[in-house]
Formats: sequence, C-alpha cells, structure tokens
Amino acid sequence: MPVTVRFAPSPTGFLHIGGARTALFNWLYARHHGGTFRLRIEDTDRARSTQAAVEAILGGLSWLGLDWDGAPVMQSQRIERHAEAARRLLAAGRAYYCYCTPAELAAMRERQRAEGRSIRYEGIWRDRDPREAPPGVEPVIRLKAPQTGETVIRDHVQGEVSVANAQLDDLVILRADGTPTYNLSVVVDDHDMEITHVIRGDDHLTNAFRQTQIYRALDWPVPEFAHVPLIHGPDGTKLSKRHGALGVEAYREMGYLPETLRNYLLRLGWSHGDDEIISTEQAIAWFDIDGVGRAAARFDFAKLDSLNGHYIRSTSDERLVELVAPRIEHLLGRSLDGAARARLQAGMAGLKPRAKTLVQLAQSARFYVAVRPIALDEKAERAIAGAGATLRALAAELVGTQWSAAALESRLRGFAEERGLTLGAVAQPLRAALTGSTVSPPIFEIMTVLGREETIARLEDAAAMAN
Ligand code: GLU
Repeated sequence: MPVTVRFAPSPTGFLHIGGARTALFNWLYARHHGGTFRLRIEDTDRARSTQAAVEAILGGLSWLGLDWDGAPVMQSQRIERHAEAARRLLAAGRAYYCYCTPAELAAMRERQRAEGRSIRYEGIWRDRDPREAPPGVEPVIRLKAPQTGETVIRDHVQGEVSVANAQLDDLVILRADGTPTYNLSVVVDDHDMEITHVIRGDDHLTNAFRQTQIYRALDWPVPEFAHVPLIHGPDGTKLSKRHGALGVEAYREMGYLPETLRNYLLRLGWSHGDDEIISTEQAIAWFDIDGVGRAAARFDFAKLDSLNGHYIRSTSDERLVELVAPRIEHLLGRSLDGAARARLQAGMAGLKPRAKTLVQLAQSARFYVAVRPIALDEKAERAIAGAGATLRALAAELVGTQWSAAALESRLRGFAEERGLTLGAVAQPLRAALTGSTVSPPIFEIMTVLGREETIARLEDAAAMAN
C-alpha cells in the first residue's frame, strides 16, 4: 500500500514548533517513500478553533516549504460521517446506548474515589435492555470495548507498548447531542483518508490504544504508529513559553531562515551519524521514522543560532537582499530605491559572515543605505573626537586615489605612515565616519561599496561633527 501520512493540527493558536516538527517528519516520510502527505484541520472544537489559526498553520507550513497533497480536510465538515460510523457500530452490537445521567456518573466516580479505585465507567448499560431506559434521558453511544486481554501497539518509536483492556472503559463515541467524540473522529478520518502511518507527538500514545479498539470494532485495518517524544526546553522540562517562542511565526520574525528551522527540527529527535548540517534533499533521502530516538530532545537556542549563521552564509546575496530589504525599510520607515538595493547587494558578501539572524543582518546593513549625514552611535562619536583634521585630510587624499580595495588599503597605509600614525588611528575614525559604528566589515570593502563620492562626503560630514 502506498505510504499516506497526515499532519492533523487543532487550529487553536499558531503553528507550534513541536507541531512543525511533527509535520516535517510526516512530510519527509512521505517524500522519502514517494507517498502522500495530507493535511487535516481538527476543528471540531468550534469554541476554540479560529480561522486566523487555520491561516497561521497553513502559512507556517508554506513558509517551511512543507507542501501538502490535495486540499486540507476540515474535520468539522465530516461530523455526519463520524456519527454514521457510531451508528454502524451500534447496529452491529459493538456499541450501545448508555442512559446514565450526569448525576449517576458523578456518584459512580465518587464511590470509586472513596474506595481508592481508578475512575472508569463500569459498563452499567453494556448489557442492559434499552427498554429499561429512563424517560427523558438522551443517551450517548459507548464502544463495547474488550474487557479481557490486552491492546498492543507496535510503535515505530516507542517499541511494543500494551495496556490491559480491563483498564480501559467503554469509551463514549457519540455524545447525547449527536456529535462524535475526538477518538472516533480521528479514526474515521484516518481510515477515509487512507492513512497508512500515523506519526505524531507521544502525548497521543494513550489515544492510540482507544483508537486501536475503535478500528478493530469497525473491522478496519489499524495504521502503523510512530509516537515521537515531545520537545523539551534546555532545562529538560516540556517546552513552554518560559523557554522562548513557541510559534513558528515568531522564529520567522526573529530572522531565522526556513531551511535553518527545517534542519534544526529534523535534528531534534532524529540523527544521521554525526551530521549536523543536512540539506532537505539529504533529509528526504535518509529519513526513516525508525531513526527517531525515544528520549525527548532538548531545544538548544545557541545551536539554532549557529545553524542559522551557516545558512545565512550559504544563501545568495540576491536572496538575502530580498529578505533583508523589507526589514531595513521597516527600521528606517521608508522604502529603498534601486541604488540603495544595489549597495546592499554589493555589501552583502562582507556582512553575511557576521550575522546569526536576519534581524542582525538588517541592523548591520543599515549604514549602507543611510542618508547623510548618518547618525553615529556613542562609540563612533568617541572614535572621531579629535580626528577632524585627519578625516578632512583623508577626504582630500581620496579625491585622486584609484578606487579599489587594494589601492585604497595601500593609500591608507601610506597616509598613516606619512603622519606618524598607526593604521588603526586612521581606520577607527574612518570606520566610525562611514558606518556610524565601531564594528563593521573590512573598511576597504565598505569604501568600494559606498563609492568615492559617498565616502568623501561621509568623511566631511564626520570631520565637521568632530570639530
Ligand atoms: N489534533 C491533534 C493535535 O493537535 C493531533 C491528532 C493526531 O495527530 O492524531 O495534537
């Protein structure tokens, strides 16, 4: 049977970073096997599901490059089909009407608690004649679950896990108002979507037992399961807001590239030897669900940064300009013209080795497109203090200098020597004058990108300020 997997998020917020990893594993599994990757939006909880959240999920997946096959299935539109499955089980004698009132159930729980027993439905209506039903009670439908033996799952990540059937009670599959319960909906959808492998977070492992019972009752094949450990924070507790951002969107905002996140999330729980940098093509070729570890992986922000630095360095200057220009426009509050973009493009090779995020890259590229007179930070102000005459003389010197990094370097060295100054004593105020800061790419590269006219003008601006 061809591999068909799915990602089934509940649209109650953003695309969670853990959900993104689940989606990635499913996507890789499908692409590796030439199978199908479906998307199902589990929006049956109408009160908590929002259209904005659906869009955030679709947007997050698209940004990550995790394209799904076919149209997304909206679970809420399939409620009738789920209910029909419940009625089919009822007709086959594999489910039954339960007329217990909420008060009766509460009393039962109370008694179990008092006796120190586990809380479970005791099958009160399992074999009782529905003709004994009290008037005015709308029944729920419960699964007639097996009472002896055990339910076993051979999970691709967790190994063989089993539960004694005596521990599982008769699950409600259809509520009194005719709506299906969660586990029934998941089973019917996965069956109808012809899902062969269910790859999801291990917080759903207990559901897998319930779902297995429902599959068997419906005489449907049970899919393969792979329950992936959740992501933990650096301190080993479940990843939460206090560790950092949880939404994929936030990582995009913070200036991470989608390929960084794909690579990072892949390594979070899956490995291929000691490889840290794994391209998407390699990931597709190598990915296998059996390689997912059983221990929870810890989110390591420093590693994410260093990986992002790698991907920024290996991204073309053109694409980086495309990514960074809107951020700079936002910082400056104006749009960039062609000349400004050309300058960014020319300066990108020198800027990108230093940036860990697009936010840093935008920040460090600002001076290239700043309008004169450019603002100087405090350190830069200190660097030009008392250097007015030097800057002015340098500006005059540059009028006739050949405009290449090599020629500029040799001219600057000559200029310093002639005045009995160190190269640094000239280069520091020069850097401050040209960039408004004291850290930047190599100064000669900056001069070639800015061009003669702009360089001289910035030197004169700074000389005037230094006096
Ligand atoms: N909707 C569930 C969730 O968001 C996933 C259900 C499943 O994968 O079976 O966690």
